Amino acid sequence: MSESHVSDSVIVGWENHPFYSGVLGAMERAGRAIQIDRNVFNRLSKPKRVLYVSVPVRMDDGTIQVFDGFRVQHNTTLGPAKGGIRYHIDVNLAETSALAMLMTLKNSLVGLPLGGAKGGVRCDPNKLSRKEKQALTRRYTTEISMLLGPEKDIPAPDIGTDAQTMAWLMDTYSQQVGHAVPGVVTGKPIEIGGSLGRVDATGRGVVYTVIEASKRLRLDLNDKTRVAIQGFGNVGYHSAKILSDVGCSIVAVSDVSGGIYNTKGVAIEELRAYIAQNKTVKGFPGGDFVSNDELLELDVDILIPAALSGQITEKNADKIKCKILAEGANGPTSPEADAILFDKGVFTVPDILANSGGVIVSYFEWVQGLQKFFWSEKDVNNKLWEIISNAFNRVYDFHSGNKMDMRHSAIAVSLERLSKAMLYRGFFP
Ligand code: GLU
Repeated sequence: MSESHVSDSVIVGWENHPFYSGVLGAMERAGRAIQIDRNVFNRLSKPKRVLYVSVPVRMDDGTIQVFDGFRVQHNTTLGPAKGGIRYHIDVNLAETSALAMLMTLKNSLVGLPLGGAKGGVRCDPNKLSRKEKQALTRRYTTEISMLLGPEKDIPAPDIGTDAQTMAWLMDTYSQQVGHAVPGVVTGKPIEIGGSLGRVDATGRGVVYTVIEASKRLRLDLNDKTRVAIQGFGNVGYHSAKILSDVGCSIVAVSDVSGGIYNTKGVAIEELRAYIAQNKTVKGFPGGDFVSNDELLELDVDILIPAALSGQITEKNADKIKCKILAEGANGPTSPEADAILFDKGVFTVPDILANSGGVIVSYFEWVQGLQKFFWSEKDVNNKLWEIISNAFNRVYDFHSGNKMDMRHSAIAVSLERLSKAMLYRGFFP
């Protein structure tokens, strides 16, 4: 049976999925801390709208393969649904729904007038040709287009998708309505209405929150500060690059094939050039090989998981040695691991705060597109700093005022705004 078969695990049983129930459990605990209205919490415990689509694609060999696709809108109280589209072989409804819920919390936390959504297609994008990927993107866009629109639902890149994918999405939607609609998607190429600073925004935001965290922990960021980064996609690479510009030493980075460890620092641009030639970090001469699991347990000051969810669990949490854990990925730490890390005194900058730079600059891109007035990169970065450091401070104040860990504090701060908004808007009918 091919990977496109719709098995129960792809679309059924999402409420019991550990990632979904983990996010829900964290929301419940944070909600209790702010005495959230029970009805509001009940409404937030399920996605507002879930769309499953099958995505038939004519492959280069002439056969038609049918992929599973999803778009989940978790909540739209604050504004249009917003969140990325993921192409990955493990995409399923439970994960997409959990990620949509995290987007609602993230957007509310950083004060954006946006709801939360996520989408994805269950496929291995590395095995698709450019032509197949374009066909898949255009068909998926068409299948979910009833949900999309600059005032309704605005996708963006996530794992396995990029500016080119967003350009195909924008073009497909625009063909359907008969004119160019840049506001239907963010993370586009600059030439068709993308924003300066969007490509590196998530990594930049991670670094800005690390800067804020290190101030609180009185940790100097200099060439003695050791950083390990799991993942060398868009978020991992830009976090590495910007942190090394800040002066830190990036001692380890990895991708799916494994990692490179060099106590003197990994040459980030050389590694990038190597990957452009060889596709993976494997065999890079500038350091020793480490597995992805070993990388997480290295003796470093700052650890940035910037790959998939579920990387730090009760199995390895006790071996994590970093002082600051900045979650570039969504959901990299399990609830059990969270508790262990908290007891160990690891300072976590949770995903909805650490990686919010991406959607913050997506919001800037959307606003620029609607106004047809574009900002300088300096303006984008300054405004990103303003929003993310402000959010960090609010979360930190809640954390110290309530003696609550940073993850639940971030969710609590987010829920304070969102629950008020939901109560003001009231309940229909
Ligand atoms: N996929 C990114 C995230 O998880 C960006 C979402 C967006 O820009 O809408 O935050």
